[in-house]
Amino acid sequence: MDYKAVGLVAGIEIHQQLDTQEKLFCRCPTTLRETADHSGVFFRNLRATESEMGEIDRAAKEEMKRDRKFQYYTYDTTCLVENDEEPPSLLNNEALSVCLTIAKIFSMTPIPQVHTMRKLVIDGSNTSGFQRTALIAVHGTLPDGGEIETICLEEEAAQRVKDDIFSLDRLGIPLVEITTSPCMHTPEEVQQVAEYIGMVLRSTGKVKRGIGTIRQDVNISIAGGARVEIKGVQELDLIAEVVRREVQRQKALLAVRDDLKERNASASNDDVKNATELFRDTKSSILKKAGKIFALNLMGFAGVIGREIQPDRRLGSEMSDYAKVCGVGGIFHTDELPAYGITADEAARLREFMHAGDADCVIIVAAAGEKQAACACNQVILRARMALEGIPEETRRMLEDGSTAYMRPLPGAARMYPETDVLPVMIDQKRWDKVVVPELLTTKTERYSLKYEIEPNYAAKLASSERLPLFERAVKEGIKPKLAAFTILSTSTELRRDGVEIRTVPDDAFLSIWHAVQQGKAAKEAIPDLLRSVASGSTVDDALNKLVPSISRDELESIIKKIIADRTDFVQQKQKAALGPLMGVVMAQVRGSVDGKVVSEILRKEIEWVLTGKGK
Ligand SMILES: [Zn+2]
Repeated sequence: MDYKAVGLVAGIEIHQQLDTQEKLFCRCPTTLRETADHSGVFFRNLRATESEMGEIDRAAKEEMKRDRKFQYYTYDTTCLVENDEEPPSLLNNEALSVCLTIAKIFSMTPIPQVHTMRKLVIDGSNTSGFQRTALIAVHGTLPDGGEIETICLEEEAAQRVKDDIFSLDRLGIPLVEITTSPCMHTPEEVQQVAEYIGMVLRSTGKVKRGIGTIRQDVNISIAGGARVEIKGVQELDLIAEVVRREVQRQKALLAVRDDLKERNASASNDDVKNATELFRDTKSSILKKAGKIFALNLMGFAGVIGREIQPDRRLGSEMSDYAKVCGVGGIFHTDELPAYGITADEAARLREFMHAGDADCVIIVAAAGEKQAACACNQVILRARMALEGIPEETRRMLEDGSTAYMRPLPGAARMYPETDVLPVMIDQKRWDKVVVPELLTTKTERYSLKYEIEPNYAAKLASSERLPLFERAVKEGIKPKLAAFTILSTSTELRRDGVEIRTVPDDAFLSIWHAVQQGKAAKEAIPDLLRSVASGSTVDDALNKLVPSISRDELESIIKKIIADRTDFVQQKQKAALGPLMGVVMAQVRGSVDGKVVSEILRKEIEWVLTGKGK
């Protein structure tokens, strides 16, 4: 597709958790906990009051359609600030430093006086009903000419455990929010920019790693379309696909609008009827369960509701998403009937009951009661009217394959107000000048590849590895770069796949093991066993003593002789190819206490001797 021709305009917002010692507004650690370890629980009702807000935001209004009570898990690593029972303390200075570093890499301009603001969030993910955020710097540049608009420091939201239960361990972890201008025009460009920003963030060495620690929101519109924000894309590889599918959706919705206009289609509240009686003897299990069944005639919508607008998504799916806000499971429409146990005969009677013409589509809403049914019908009418206009401005969430579903209206601009409990922070020229820009991981990769003769692929992996600081320390202490790189990338990965808790092995243990190997106290081959031993709680010294009883050359020779003597048939049969399998047998017996090279040398001689009687 020619994305320039459709007028694609996209921007991204990246949220990255920082790996600081403490949270943003309290001194609690930033460690995540197992929910089973929670030490307390409390409940809270969240409401946005008119007096606090002036005008209630449309996204907040949407949330308030539901009456909700939230439950929170507390831990011995959370405090009264997370509970919103104590005012926040000063903005975390370490987090501010990391944020300034990132800002400087993008050549941004810092805000001289940083003010913390409150952003209304009443989906329960914050105990206070708002999220604190502080604008730190503005106007940055990307290498390809794109622009970073802002960088903010924010507090991470509480983690949803399930439904309306949240866990407070994550609440308050410092988060940087980087917003680009709408400067991208193809799906691939969006992906590249997201990858670049991710690389810059990791270059600081101060960001959390792993699933959920970085989240991308993508803003997308096409010519004649509307701004749509897709929230929480966690898989970087999917970003381009998400953009492609959103362009497809917006184009399809514009075509839908043109068709509907041509047909003079309309959606009116006057066309809603209580159809409960009509389905009294239905075999459809969903309709049977419903307290009330309402039907709604959409004039001129026949065939349009069932039209695919994204893989596995129809206009009907969008209407269904809107109806779900009222608590119903979804909707049916005559474009898809007969189905779901609703017969052709029932569909025909429904059309008659609704006075629907051939060009009309009838929507069925199955609800618990009248109020809920009416709410869902209103939502469907709302969405149908939007279809007549084109594309609604929305916040959407990503589905597994890159398609999206409606979440809530796009928030308005009236969401921020000052946080008076947190003092402003000054960023003067002196502080800004002191900010040191770190070497970017891309530069690092090139350097490793050239200086240490590490393959470029391997070097890139190393540069983005969580053990990168260990590698740098090792090289500084005289450990051979290739040995360190191999242990960090290959050996560790193999051990992890084997179920070894390699993450628990401290950097110092790695270093001691490498030094032991380089001093000849242990063979390279012993490294996996040594790491395994340390991971299960042993000290490096104990591991060395246990695994590496020193074996003299004489002892080794007699071990090898014995092994070969037991397998002369095998040696005769395999000839020189017996070396490989026998290496394995010997190494297993000496448990890595001897260098593989020495073993192979002796083995080769002994095999030669068995085969030819020569070589000794
Ligand atoms: Zn705390």
